Amino acid sequence: MSTTIPGPVDTATEVELTAIGHWLDGAVVPGTSGRVGPVYNPALGCQTGEVAFASVDEVDQAVARAKKAFGSWRAVSLARRSELMFQVRELVSEHRADIASILTAEHGKVHTDALGEVARGLEVIEYACGIPTLLQGGFSEQASTGIDVYSIRQPVGVVAGITPFNFPAMVPMWMWAPALACGNCFVLKPSEKDPSASLYVAELLREAGLPDGVFAVINGDKVAVDRLLEHPDVGAISFVGSTAIARYIYENGTKAGKRVQALGGAKNHMIVLPDADIDMAADAAVSAAYGSAGERCMAISAVVTVGDAGDRLIDAIKERLPSVKVGPGDDPDSGMGPLITREHRDRVASYVDRGREQGATVVADGRELEVDGDGFFLGASLLDHVEPGTDCYNDEIFGPVLSVVRADSYDQAVGLVNDNSYGNGTAIFTRDGGVARQFQFDVNVGMVGINVPIPVPVAYYSFGGWKASLFGDSHAYGPESIHFYTRGKVVTSRWPDPDTSAVDLGFPQTR
Ligand code: NAD
Repeated sequence: MSTTIPGPVDTATEVELTAIGHWLDGAVVPGTSGRVGPVYNPALGCQTGEVAFASVDEVDQAVARAKKAFGSWRAVSLARRSELMFQVRELVSEHRADIASILTAEHGKVHTDALGEVARGLEVIEYACGIPTLLQGGFSEQASTGIDVYSIRQPVGVVAGITPFNFPAMVPMWMWAPALACGNCFVLKPSEKDPSASLYVAELLREAGLPDGVFAVINGDKVAVDRLLEHPDVGAISFVGSTAIARYIYENGTKAGKRVQALGGAKNHMIVLPDADIDMAADAAVSAAYGSAGERCMAISAVVTVGDAGDRLIDAIKERLPSVKVGPGDDPDSGMGPLITREHRDRVASYVDRGREQGATVVADGRELEVDGDGFFLGASLLDHVEPGTDCYNDEIFGPVLSVVRADSYDQAVGLVNDNSYGNGTAIFTRDGGVARQFQFDVNVGMVGINVPIPVPVAYYSFGGWKASLFGDSHAYGPESIHFYTRGKVVTSRWPDPDTSAVDLGFPQTR
């Protein structure tokens, strides 16, 4: 396969670097540490920005302001917090194209995919608009004679979010929307690779009326993360990223006495049974493996075919590969953009040779894509007869390399999924409802698709994997996020009989 990327880019043009600072007290502020990191436009393959890396002191300032703001923010009525979330929803929706353009420029994903990312984040904001209902407690009248018992949930305080490069807008929304709605103050440490969307969204939060200090964006690296992990005034940490760092965050955050949810990496398997609709399965495999250049934690990276489904599926996937148009994310004809950095692209590409050396058949080699310019592009690769235990099978490649493993039976296929160290998402393609139901029962994975390749739950369920894909007990967004960002309190009360009533002819108001 050999394709040329349309619209060559002129990398000789000098690009003026944008200085990317922090968001503190309702305004962008420049970094003061003297440490910075590069931000690239992956489609051009050149640096476009320089992001400030926060010092311990800058993190401390953000946490101190958040702590100060917490007293009054937690006292804001549920009605007002809900109203504010509705306003945030309107502003994010109104500016979705602008946010998507920032994502395309710094991450590289194609514009339609970036719009999809914002749309899925918006769903979580919409869920948070229902905060008065979500925080309803329980009440037991006359638990004992003259005694009532009731439960309430209160915000944790200052909470922090540390997010990955692959969803620079949506994953922060998974965190700050429920956290703020619950009455917490939030310090966000976005990925240093694509930080600008977070600063843009911070402006929208301010415009919506969020008080200064309630939301901060601290850009940076391990220095900022380590300070958040140990800071005594940070009560909870939400993390999404790779498994090695997730484990580190969980171990160190909990050691410092914080509640921690740390979502890690993935190796998502899609099982295709012989009775499956092969065209539908092939469409799904191509979309889920190569969408967003495979840089999704819910991407399908291993397809396990059972029996004679293998040859038929490989043929059907091969037929579809020419339709995967690789190119700059702002070109409407592109279906797949570049990878995040040159180093990552080269690492992903190295799996093609490693796969061949370890016995796989290279059906399509993405390195054959002809690229004009310096963009971090790689075409779609397809490896067949990949053996469990080889690097291509074991590693989270996080790029457009799909491995196909052949299995003899359903039991062998499910065994592979369950033996894998990750347990984020999985899917089965079959026309047999009984087998699909058995799969949902058998499989040790947090999110399961039945003829659905990327089963990211809707916002009113929670998102999270099992095994090395999640450290901690609580999944992201949905009901579990409301639990994570609040603490329970149970009140047992007995009252004398005071005469507190007064005449008020006004229509009762909520605020
Ligand atoms: P990453 O782990 O490299 O970085 C995530 C965050 O951790 C970033 O903010 C980064 O600055 C910080 N970080 C990196 N190294 C650190 C260190 N040594 N100490 C402290 N902090 C550090 O992840 P990434 O490359 O940005 O994102 C891709 C990974 O995220 C993939 O493994 C993907 O599967 C995973 N991911 C998981 C989910 C999920 O829901 N489970 C969702 C999206 C992405």
